[in-house]
Amino acid sequence: MKILVINCGSSSLKYQLINMKNEEVMAKGLVERIGIEGSVLTQKINDSKYEIKQYMKDHKEAIKLVVEALTHEEYGVIKNMNEISAVGHRVVHAGEKYSSSVLINEDVIKVLEQCVKLAPLHNPANIVGINVCRELIPNIPMVAVFDTAFHQTLPDYAYIYPLPYELYTKYAIRKYGFHGTSHKYVSDVAAQMLGKNKKDLKIITCHLGNGASLCAIDKGKSVDTSMGFTPLEGLAMGTRCGDIDSAIIPFLMKTGELTIDNVDNLLNKESGVLGISGVSSDFRDIEEAASRGNKRAELALEVFCYRVKKFIGAYIAAMGGVDCIVFTAGLGENSPETREKVCENLEFMGINVDKEKNKIRGKAMDISSKESRVKVFVIPTNEELMIAKETKTIVEIK
Ligand code: ADP
Repeated sequence: MKILVINCGSSSLKYQLINMKNEEVMAKGLVERIGIEGSVLTQKINDSKYEIKQYMKDHKEAIKLVVEALTHEEYGVIKNMNEISAVGHRVVHAGEKYSSSVLINEDVIKVLEQCVKLAPLHNPANIVGINVCRELIPNIPMVAVFDTAFHQTLPDYAYIYPLPYELYTKYAIRKYGFHGTSHKYVSDVAAQMLGKNKKDLKIITCHLGNGASLCAIDKGKSVDTSMGFTPLEGLAMGTRCGDIDSAIIPFLMKTGELTIDNVDNLLNKESGVLGISGVSSDFRDIEEAASRGNKRAELALEVFCYRVKKFIGAYIAAMGGVDCIVFTAGLGENSPETREKVCENLEFMGINVDKEKNKIRGKAMDISSKESRVKVFVIPTNEELMIAKETKTIVEIK
């Protein structure tokens, strides 16, 4: 069974064609600058790379080109689209409606449209991707896999904000959580690495990339997570501020310097480690600047790691213990410094990282020392494979 995974953003589109027999990635690609001058599609098959530079005015043209690239005589990997059994779409927000992946039909699309107000930056692009695929490759079943679904098991005391309750009933304002596909994937792999059933485990997964979130997983279920109503809550991130005193917002607005849109931009795009360091939102640049003695870059990394550490402590308290901590995503997989700093001084909680083992980058590995009661793992995330697996399951039970 071959499954095409599509992750559609507002001006970009990522895709992977996965052969489920051996979970091999047959082709993967990225379309950038859709609707902007300089559109380009890059497709990779093993080590070869093909590029198509051609203006794509919208997602329809982009997906047409993806079909062309996949089926191309010379650099394609399939003869025609009928070889594909299903398409799995990454969708950011399903509100409270879906707690697992679903087969896409008209009703599902209506629900996703209702959720646009909850994810105005993401859901519209996801819906366009689905609609265009249904038009261009009809007859192939399509499945929506949601970032929010895994967190639908949060207990009410974890997802209700201490605001007037009517805001929840009227506007659905509550914690939803994101990166669910990644948290689920790496926690499943962690259970396999431990050789245990996830029902017997308490796991904390740290998805640390440009966007970053932690998840407390008890008996295989998400019971708390650091992102909230939107992906702004929680940790400090590349450009997002995470948790701040919300009174800062009216304060700033009363200075007259900022409008609502400015504030939104400030909190989402100008804050986080970029805001503190003034260097970059990319952790590699900040680590480099810090190593040259840039104090604000050092401070940005301190703030970032301190907050991850605090959430780990909070989630151990929330679950009444932890068996395993997992680091994943760009920074979690590749930055020994971050992992070491986060776990520093947690020995009293049974968390002990082996400095030598911790040197690895981008590989699944147990980095805890022999005496560590809690296992600490690095596990590369693979959201595309998870989406493909979910899609396969849904299509098979159809
Ligand atoms: P997202 O999907 O949220 O855009 P990623 O999971 O791709 O993010 O992570 C991107 C982040 O990971 C970047 O800030 C990047 O600097 C960081 N990163 C990637 N490789 C390394 C590395 N070798 N050392 C430190 N940070 C890294």
